[in-house]
Amino acid sequence: MDNKSKLRALPKIDELVAALDALCEEYGRDVVTDCAREQVEDVRRTILSGGDCEVSLDALCARVADAMKAIYAPHLHAVVNATGVVLHTNLGRAVLSEAAARAAYTAARCYTNLEYDVEKGQRGSRYSHIERLLRRLTGAEGAMVVNNNAAAVLLILSTLARGKEVVVSRGELVEIGGAFRVPAIMEQSGGTLVEIGTTNKTHPYDYENAVTENTGAILKVHTSNFKITGFTEEVPLTALREIADRHGLPLIYDLGSGRLCDLTEAGVLEEPGVLQALADGADVVSFSGDKLLGGPQAGIIVGKKELIERMKKHPLTRAFRVDKMTFAALEETLRCYLDPTRAGNVPTIAMIRRPLEELDRAARSLRRRLSAIEGLHAAVVDEKSQVGGGSVPSVFLDTRAVAVTADNISSAALEENLRRRFSIICRVTHDRVLLDVRTLLEGDDKTIADAFRTLCEEAK
Ligand SMILES: *Cc1c(COP(=O)(O)O)cnc(C)c1O
Repeated sequence: MDNKSKLRALPKIDELVAALDALCEEYGRDVVTDCAREQVEDVRRTILSGGDCEVSLDALCARVADAMKAIYAPHLHAVVNATGVVLHTNLGRAVLSEAAARAAYTAARCYTNLEYDVEKGQRGSRYSHIERLLRRLTGAEGAMVVNNNAAAVLLILSTLARGKEVVVSRGELVEIGGAFRVPAIMEQSGGTLVEIGTTNKTHPYDYENAVTENTGAILKVHTSNFKITGFTEEVPLTALREIADRHGLPLIYDLGSGRLCDLTEAGVLEEPGVLQALADGADVVSFSGDKLLGGPQAGIIVGKKELIERMKKHPLTRAFRVDKMTFAALEETLRCYLDPTRAGNVPTIAMIRRPLEELDRAARSLRRRLSAIEGLHAAVVDEKSQVGGGSVPSVFLDTRAVAVTADNISSAALEENLRRRFSIICRVTHDRVLLDVRTLLEGDDKTIADAFRTLCEEAK
């Protein structure tokens, strides 16, 4: 068929839609008609530009069916995290506990007392729910929650440092993934950054010398995603407290991760805890909800009541406002920290603490499944997992992984197929596909085995 006759042979839209009864039933006639029009137009363009396309009614019907499926398929979907990175920012950071997810679901499906005081029968504060718990957990006088920690830092600086100078060590001018940069946030807040010290060393006298009548605050930023080693010195919070007191300045600490339970046994030693930060004298501490805390995306601010109350009244607070589902999931997550023995109910904490024997058992079980597949070779290997999410970059947790090779498929092709067709995210090292079991969830073993089985059968 030449191009002209092909164009003539293209089915009319009405004819095409009439042949798609089942699809119309499922999705609705209007959306199918729009999709049919797009597909016919697509084919027409391809033919006009010299391309080859089937123009039969059947072929067009199949195209529309595929296109409809693609439109309705959830674009945000579950993936298997076989990287071992517990807080993988690109994979959505923390996985919520069943209880926290259920709380979010219930809040979503119901009216709630989000901003309603049931006792008094009048408008209440959306922060009241979480403030109670955060005060109990941290001992802080005041607490509030915004959409993420970047927003928290911007709100703190906008409230306390607008039009004033803020003293920050050069060793702490960090960039966190996704373009959160301390100097840029400072500029947005209307505060003026006063850099002091050097990259590797900052002394108390650097702070003292930088304070003027225009100083609005001292800011400490936890260098969460990198580590400077060697000839280094930073000023501890307790010393900063003394300097802040001498000059009557608020001391702000951007903690980043916000650890609320002990993780020393798991080997996470250098991540400052929220309680310690407050005990050491920070007036305001901020941290993420979905890093080490293991909750939903949020930015938590705790500290002096008077300062927090000022922040609540700032116009940005309305712009950074958190929804009821986040509050519900966060409350449920925080509840796990009331009793230290329950912190392991938070999946993030459980994954970080997973004992090596348990990881070993999980790896051997996965290896058995994979070894049963024809053409596939699997072995358990010693590996290191990272906590991720910009937390404790120098901590490498001992873990077990399953290293896989296939007879007729390269490791690079395996990794690409696992990722693109089965949403299984893993690494290739030493020409082997590596599946770290630390971050695998229930059911992932089967998903992985089914995917490998399909790939090996295709490659036979
Ligand atoms: C992660 C991090 C942030 C940003 O927190 P988000 O919740 O991702 O917005 C800010 N400061 C520090 C030190 C961090 O580690």
